[in-house]
Parts: sequence; C-alpha cells; structure tokens
Amino acid sequence: MRPTYLEVNLTQLQRNLEAIRAHVAPAKVLAVVKANAYGHGVDGVAPFLEPFADYLGVALVEEGIHLRELGITKPILVMGGTLADQLPAFLEHDLTLTASSLDLLLAADRLAESTGKCLRAHLKIDTGMERVGVRDTEAEPFIEKSIACSHLSVEGIYTHLANSEMPDLVHARLQLERFQGVLALYDKLGAPPPICHLCNSGGILQLPEGHLDMVRPGIMLYGYYPGGDVQRTVEIQPALTWRSQVVYSKITPPGRPVSYGSLWQAEAPTRIVTVPCGYADGYFRRMTNQARVVIRGKSYPQVGRICMDQFMVDVGADEVQVGDEVILLGQGISADDLALWAGTNNYEPLTNISARVPRVYVSG
Ligand SMILES: *Cc1c(COP(=O)(O)O)cnc(C)c1O
Repeated sequence: MRPTYLEVNLTQLQRNLEAIRAHVAPAKVLAVVKANAYGHGVDGVAPFLEPFADYLGVALVEEGIHLRELGITKPILVMGGTLADQLPAFLEHDLTLTASSLDLLLAADRLAESTGKCLRAHLKIDTGMERVGVRDTEAEPFIEKSIACSHLSVEGIYTHLANSEMPDLVHARLQLERFQGVLALYDKLGAPPPICHLCNSGGILQLPEGHLDMVRPGIMLYGYYPGGDVQRTVEIQPALTWRSQVVYSKITPPGRPVSYGSLWQAEAPTRIVTVPCGYADGYFRRMTNQARVVIRGKSYPQVGRICMDQFMVDVGADEVQVGDEVILLGQGISADDLALWAGTNNYEPLTNISARVPRVYVSG
C-alpha cells in the first residue's frame, strides 16, 4: 500500500451519529454519505453506519446504485436533481426519488404504472434555496397531485436550508415558517402528511424547532461543524487522520529555490523533506506556502509549489529522516485549517481527498 493513506476511525463516526440522535430524538436520522462519505470512503463507512441510521442519503443516483451494490438494504434517498431518463434506475435498485417538480412526479407515476412496480418518492419544496424543488407558494397543486399518484409511494416531504449555520437565523426561521405553511396543506386536503424533514447540520445545531420527523446530518457526522460561528450544541469529533512518510531528506542551501516557479528559497542552509502526496490526491495546490504538517509531534511549514504527487516541507535544523511519519490532517491539524489555507470551507478539502488515497478503517 502507498505510504500516503487516510485512517478513518469508525467508532468515532458511530459516536457522532449517536450524539446527533440523542439531540434530535425522537426524530429519525438520515445519514448523508454522498461524495464518498465526505471523503471518508463510502465502501467502509456506509455498511458500518447503516445499522445506526434510519435512512441513507446521497446526491446522485449512481451513488445510490453503488450503495445497493455494497449490500445496503435501508432506504436510500437520492437528494440531487434527477432527469426523467434516470427514473428506471430508481425502480431497478429500489432508490427513493426526490420529486422536485410536478413533471418529474408525473413521469415517475407513469413509469411505475407501466412497469407495475412501486416507486418511492419524497417531495421537494423550495422555501428559499432556489436550487431544486417546487416553491412553497406553488405547493398546493403539487401536493394534491402527489396524493392522487396511485403508483407512487410518497413517503416524505422536505426542504433545504440555505443559511442554517449563520449566527443570524432570520432566513432559516423564514424557511421553516414557509415549510410549515406547506405542511398545513395536508390538513386542508384531508390527507396525513408523510415524513417531514428540513435540517442539515446547521439546522440540527441551531434550529431545534425544525427537527420535525427526521434530520439529514452530513458534515457533523464526520465530526466537523458547518461553520466557524455556529452554536456547538452537539459534541462531535473528527474521525480522520491523513498520514504519509518522508521519502527524501536533504539540506538545501540559499540560492537553490524549491519546486515549480521557484516561489520559495532558504535564507540559510535548512533541511527540506519531500512528502509523496500532492494536488492529485486532493492536497490543494492553492495551499502552497500556507499549509503546515506535523512530524514527530512538531509543526512545520510546507514550502515551494505543491506538485501533483509530492510537496516539500522545511524542517529547519531538525533531524527528520526518510521514513518518518508525516501528518497532513489530524493531531492538531483540522479540516478547518486546510480550509483556511485554501480559502474555502471545511467541506471542500474533505470531499476532495481523491480515490488514489487508500482508506484504512480502524476502531477505538
Ligand atoms: C448535503 C446535504 C445535506 C447535508 O448537509 P450538511 O451541511 O453537510 O449537514 C442535507 N440535505 C441535503 C438535501 C443535502 O444535499
């Protein structure tokens, strides 16, 4: 195996899920495992988490099919936008459709009728994200039609929050209010509402009145908070350690700039070590001369352009040798640090750790 790998602590994922469940009970929990389980490796994470979750959630129908191929039997909600020609895959693999328009709902009903099979769906209402979904103001005919769709099993209705991790919850509360207005239509139409859900991680932490029948944690499951200023009402811990090893070690003198573009050079002779990991592994090139790593418990700066497959670290006068372990994430370095160095949020470095990096699963 490569010396560069990701260690995933499954027990910590379980603890995070249980902490979320205790906070939202009696609401159900849909564990979001899209984007390769936020980079943690869906092949190891999804089968492990399945017994602790009520539903699994993914963005793409292909991700849902992959979960079925892994042997997952719990309901799988495909949350992203879907084209009508992708509908047969939902039937074939028993995936739950997000019905985000009246056209898609009716196409799904027709397909289910023609095949004689039952297709599961959750209705998607747009209360203020303007991404996919039927606007709350146009929801009445949508819900009415969904009740009349006799070949579909409409098991849920949901919406998505645009600003739930912000200190100012005015927009999140407006979205909840609009959603509750939509749910009230069920009473008016004389039908029982299906499973209602709206909370992502930010909503779980900051909008307890919005937990409803189910919540959809993503980033929190992996032990990270969805924003720097969010209220930390549930205690969670990261589960990842990104490890590598020094493959080359030498003293570099002044006047010998390091890496592409010659962006950095030593002011005095210093030890420069090389780490076999680069931007093709998801160690972003834009962290050049910003990132830090930990070797033998001590923090050191990354120097010179991060390459596709390797980067260099300045360890000064310290005796760092070939084979020494290098920590890229974990042991005091968090995805929030990587995010800061790369000028993005903590979701992006996690979800970009590429398939080329082996995942190793541990418990404890
Ligand atoms: C990704 C996603 C989530 C999870 O969001 P987090 O902020 O990671 O908790 C929840 N719901 C939907 C519809 C999503 O697409």
